[in-house]
Amino acid sequence: MRSGSTPSPLRCHPVTDLSALSPVPPGARDAVLKFFFGPMDCGKSTLALQMNYNHSRQGRRGLVLTKHDRSGGPQVTSRIGLGLEAIEVEDSLDLVTLVTAYDSVDYLICDEACFYTVAQIEQLADLVDDHGVDVYAFGLASDFRSVMFPAAQRLFELADEVCRLQVEVLCWCGRPGLLNGRIVGGELVRTGEQVVIGDTDRSPVRYQVLCRRHHRSGLLGEGTA
Ligand SMILES: [Zn+2]
Repeated sequence: MRSGSTPSPLRCHPVTDLSALSPVPPGARDAVLKFFFGPMDCGKSTLALQMNYNHSRQGRRGLVLTKHDRSGGPQVTSRIGLGLEAIEVEDSLDLVTLVTAYDSVDYLICDEACFYTVAQIEQLADLVDDHGVDVYAFGLASDFRSVMFPAAQRLFELADEVCRLQVEVLCWCGRPGLLNGRIVGGELVRTGEQVVIGDTDRSPVRYQVLCRRHHRSGLLGEGTA
C-alpha cells in the first residue's frame, strides 16, 4: 500500500514467532490470527475491505463478517464510503459451524470483532488451528470507559499478531486520539451498558475520539457538544 492513500498498520509486532518452533515442513505455513485495533475513525473497516480485496484478487476464498456495523445492516461500511455485503454475527452463531458449512474458506475478515462473544473468539482460534483458516480481526480495544471489551481482551491473549492502527485520528486538542468517549446530552458519561449503538439519527448517544488527558478530564472542546 502506498503511504498516504490508504490506512496501513504501523509497527506490527508478532507476539510469537511460531515458525522458529513449529515442526511444519519448509514451504508450509500455519494459518494466522491477527487483530488490528484502534479507536473510531482510524480506518479499521477501510483496511478490512482492502484486505478482503487483496486476498480475493489472489484467488483466495473468504467470508466477511461483522456485527453492529454503522450502516445498521449486515455489511461492512467505512466512513470514507466503501461498502461490502457481510454476514451478521449474532451472539448465538457458531463460527466453526458457519465456516465449515462452506465448501472451502481460506480466510475470514472479522470486522467489529470487539462485539463478538468470547466464545466466538475461541471459535476463531479453532478455525485457525484446526481448519487452516487465516483470520483477520478488526475492532476497538476499549469501550467508552477505557475498559477493554472482553472479546478484544481474548484477541490480545490469543492472536499471533496484534497491530495498533494509527491513522492520525486526533482529539479536538490536536493530540493523538486513543480512546472513545460516549457523549449523552453533551456530557461525557462513564457508566452504562458496554455496548450502545450511537451516532445514528435515532440515538441520543454519540461517540467522540479523545486523547487520554481529555477522556480522563471529560473536557470535550468548544463546538463539539
Ligand atoms: Zn485532547
